[in-house]
Amino acid sequence: MEYLKTIRLPDICEGVHPVVEDETDADPFNIDHSKLETKKKPSSQLMSYASEIRLIKSWLRPSLEELEERKVFIGNKKHRLTLIFDVDQTLVYSSLCGNQLSTTMRPYAQQLIKRLSSCFEILLFSAGEEAYVAQVLNILDPERQYISKALSRKHCICIDTQYYVKDLRVIADRDLREMLIVDDNIFSFSFQLDNGILITPFTGDSNDEELSFLSTYLIELSNESEPVKANREKMSLVASSIYSS
Ligand SMILES: [Mg+2]
Repeated sequence: MEYLKTIRLPDICEGVHPVVEDETDADPFNIDHSKLETKKKPSSQLMSYASEIRLIKSWLRPSLEELEERKVFIGNKKHRLTLIFDVDQTLVYSSLCGNQLSTTMRPYAQQLIKRLSSCFEILLFSAGEEAYVAQVLNILDPERQYISKALSRKHCICIDTQYYVKDLRVIADRDLREMLIVDDNIFSFSFQLDNGILITPFTGDSNDEELSFLSTYLIELSNESEPVKANREKMSLVASSIYSS
């Protein structure tokens, strides 16, 4: 599957941009909000998604039977909001070195999950196979303290034999209005664009800092009474101008 170019979070979450004054300020979450700069939304980048959204609009929605086959229950709800993380190129980068799979964790991934687990229920949802996702879960949260459940390819809806869509309606015991999904691929949340937060793909760069921006954005959303609606407004992914074009 081709990965789309995505928008940097600092550009979409109303431009929050931490200014790190010196090298010793290494904690990405210790952000002094008085030092935040504001950047304008790059409307041309947002509009670049128009063709992807047109393609999504052309797809038939999965039938109730298809959703039923993939249905999953999470169980006891730990928080009002459920935050779902994609795995590959969102939290980790995996590549084959000979026959050996090498997995690199995205900078701040574990800190982010730990921090957000105080205000969100956290799930993983990957288009990868179940065994692989279990392996990554063991790396990210070995003690199973922060991540409630990991969903895999068997829970995805496959479109045109190449697009694995994570239709959030398969999560039977959660409300769509209380779920957000972070993914580097817009097709992953094709059927719930309002719930999606696009993140720049991680390809192993040890200086990547997207997750620190994501932390700020998500904590803001967790304080919203209607977080999905707030996300829709901030992401502008489903702006009427795009949908109607
Ligand atoms: Mg991904």
